[in-house]
Amino acid sequence: MTNRNFRAILTGSFSSPCADNPTVAMMEAAYAHDGIDARYINCEVTPDNLGAAVKGALAMGWIGFNCSLPHKVAVMAHLDEIAEAAKIIGAVNCVRIRDKRLIGDNTDGKGFLASLRTVTDPAGKKVLLLGAGGAARAIAVELGLSGAKSMTIANRKPEKAEAIADLIRKNTECGAEAVVWTGDIRVPEGVDIVINATSIGLGDKDALPPIELTSLTEKMIVADVIPNPPMTRLLTEAKSRGGTTLDGLGMLVNQGLIGAELWFGRKFSAAVMERTLEDIFGAAD
Ligand code: NDP
Repeated sequence: MTNRNFRAILTGSFSSPCADNPTVAMMEAAYAHDGIDARYINCEVTPDNLGAAVKGALAMGWIGFNCSLPHKVAVMAHLDEIAEAAKIIGAVNCVRIRDKRLIGDNTDGKGFLASLRTVTDPAGKKVLLLGAGGAARAIAVELGLSGAKSMTIANRKPEKAEAIADLIRKNTECGAEAVVWTGDIRVPEGVDIVINATSIGLGDKDALPPIELTSLTEKMIVADVIPNPPMTRLLTEAKSRGGTTLDGLGMLVNQGLIGAELWFGRKFSAAVMERTLEDIFGAAD
């Protein structure tokens, strides 16, 4: 006779491809560290199976799940409720299930902001945002809602940068302008925070977003969303000029922490998550 509970709490992620997503390692390390009997199941879910996967999570009593590419927009059609910032962003990457209701949120931008706040308060700051994809959009909205003074969004395809600038102007007090990114971009005078939100640098430590390196100064905070490798060429260059740098692991860890808090209503260990990712990717410095 035993009173042991053999039913684990279920969480996880739906994406495709999913095999290179390290979130499972980070989350299960945090659960185990705190003695929580929970799983984070990394599921390969193709677009035609997203609805069935969401219904499956509901049927099996999961308490929540993340959605990564390509489901962040499509998942919204399957939810009962969507948080305000996620509505503005137009994408959901974290869903919690309460009383059989599916509630969507977006932790991409919030994770970035939590990481940024370890070095500065974004309120009143001028930002140069490189890229206008999903990550840039989420970061821009959270920066705008956090009181950033102005942002310049640079992208090869200007219409995507303009769409984000328009979103920021309409939904926040932050000034926003879009610029076409051709050749090496010069960081405009007075910019406090430079963010690489493109995929340049992912899996390539030598890749550098086209930028005039001489326009990076020691007064700037330079952040990169790339988690792998964490010490990107952009961060190395910024650091060598005396700037403060923030790597993509911080964003990933904070996203995980925020998501887990939404699901479990409690905090988990950032240090355990960081160590797990550093073991996988190598430390940033
Ligand atoms: P998207 O595909 O939505 O956007 C990619 C962006 O990168 C676009 O703006 C694209 O420009 C730009 N880009 C790609 N290649 C180039 C290039 N050679 N020159 C100039 N611009 C380029 O991707 P996401 O926004 O979803 O993700 C971006 C990165 O953020 C990924 O590498 C991902 O790993 C990382 N990420 C990190 C997270 C973390 O927690 N650390 C969380 C989420 C994402 P264009 O529009 O002109 O094609």
